[in-house]
Amino acid sequence: MERTLFEPEHDLFRESFRKFLDQHVAPNHAEWEEQGIVDRAVWLEAGKQGFLGMAMPEEYGGGGVKDFRYNAIVAEESVRGQYSGLGFALHNDVIAPYLLELANEEQKQRWLPGFCSGEIITAIAMTEPGTGSDLQGIKTRAVRDGDDWVLNGAKTFITNGINADIVIVVAQTDPEKGAMGFSLLVVERDMPGFERGRNLDKLGLKAQDTAELSFTDVRVPAANLLGQEGAGFIHLMQNLPQERLSIAVMAAAAMEACLDMTIQYVRDRKAFGKPIGTFQNTRFVLAELATKTTAVRVLVDRFIEDLNNGKLSVEDAAMAKWWSTEEQVELIDRCLQLHGGYGYMKEYPIAKAYMDARVQTIYGGTTEIMKEIIGRSLKLS
Ligand SMILES: Cc1cc2nc3c(=O)[nH]c(=O)nc-3n(C[C@H](O)[C@H](O)[C@H](O)COP(=O)(O)OP(=O)(O)OC[C@H]3O[C@@H](n4cnc5c(N)ncnc54)[C@H](O)[C@@H]3O)c2cc1C
Repeated sequence: MERTLFEPEHDLFRESFRKFLDQHVAPNHAEWEEQGIVDRAVWLEAGKQGFLGMAMPEEYGGGGVKDFRYNAIVAEESVRGQYSGLGFALHNDVIAPYLLELANEEQKQRWLPGFCSGEIITAIAMTEPGTGSDLQGIKTRAVRDGDDWVLNGAKTFITNGINADIVIVVAQTDPEKGAMGFSLLVVERDMPGFERGRNLDKLGLKAQDTAELSFTDVRVPAANLLGQEGAGFIHLMQNLPQERLSIAVMAAAAMEACLDMTIQYVRDRKAFGKPIGTFQNTRFVLAELATKTTAVRVLVDRFIEDLNNGKLSVEDAAMAKWWSTEEQVELIDRCLQLHGGYGYMKEYPIAKAYMDARVQTIYGGTTEIMKEIIGRSLKLS
C-alpha cells in the first residue's frame, strides 16, 4: 500500500535517520544487547543530528516542529533495524509532551536544552512493584516540608531507568483527595536518597535498560513539581494517547518488517523439492498476514493524522494500541512458524522480533485495560 502520510521533508528526515542508524547504532547494537544498556554516546550523537526533541522549540535546541510524523519515522526505522535498545521513542513521544505542555519557563530552561542535546536522558515512573494497571494504587508518597517535597517509595519496570538523568515520578501528594491527590515530581540524577536497583533481565528488548528505582527521603525542591499539584492523573490522561499511538506505530512497522523477511525466507527455503512459498498453506497464511498488516497500517497512519490535528481521542488511542499489538504478536508467531526450526534460533531476526514483540500488549496499558477504556465509552450500563 502506498502511504500518503508523508511530505518530501519527512523522506529526507527518514533518509538521514537511517544513515545515523547505519553509522552509529548498527555497529554497536549487539554489544549493547550483551551489556543490557546502550552507551550514552549514542544519545549525544542523536541529539547532535537533530533526532531528539524535534517538537521542542528552537530556542532550547529543538527542531521547532510539532509534527508526530517525525516521531513516527524515528520509531519505524528503529523497529525496522531491530534496534530495540534505543529509548528515543520514550524520550520523544512520551516525555516530550509532558515537558512541553507542563514545564514552566524556569524548568524549560533547566531541562529542554539537555533533552534536545542528549545530555539529559528522561524516564517516567508510574508503575510500582504492587501496582501497574491500577494507578490509583500508587503508594509512592511525597510530603511537603518547607520548600521541598520529601519523597518515599519504589518504582519498577522503568524504561531508561539506569541511564535517566531526570525521572518524572508519579506520587501521592494528598491521600485524602483520591484521584486528585497525585502529582508529578521531577527527580534528578544526583538527589540524595534516589537509587537505582537492578537493570532487569527481560525476555526481549535486551539493550534497553529497564530498572527498579527507589526513593528514600529524597528532598525534591518544590520547583520540580511538574504541572499542577493534585492534577497528576489529569496530566497522565492527557498524555497517554500519544504514548499508546507510539506503541501502535512500532507494531505496524514490526508487522511490515516481519512480513517482508518471511516472504523472502519462503521464497528461498525449499522443502519437498520446491520453495515453501509455493505451498497453498504458506500463500494463504501470508495473504492473511499481508491483509492484516495493511489494515493496521491504514488505521495507524490515519490516527497519526488525527493526533497531529488534535483529534485523537483516548478511546481511539486505546483501539490502536490493543489491536495493533495483538496483531503484531500473532503475525510474528505465524511468521516464525513459517521459518521452521530456524525461526527458533536467536541469530534469525524473526526470533528477535518474537522476543521484542511480546511486551507490546503489556506496557503502556495492557490489552485488557485498553478494552476497559473502549468498553466504558460505549455506555453499556
Ligand atoms: C519492558 C517494560 C517497560 C516498561 N516501561 C515502563 C515505564 O517506563 N514506566 C512505567 O511507569 N511503567 C513501565 N512499564 C510497566 C507497564 O506499564 C506495566 O507492566 C503494565 O501497565 C501492567 O501492569 P502490571 O505489570 O502491574 O500488571 P497488572 O496490573 O498486575 O496486570 C496483570 C494482568 O491482570 C490484568 N488486569 C489488571 N486489571 C484488570 C482489569 N481491571 N480487568 C481485566 N484485566 C485486568 C492485566 O491486563 C494483566 O493481564 C514497563 C513494563 C515493561 C515490561
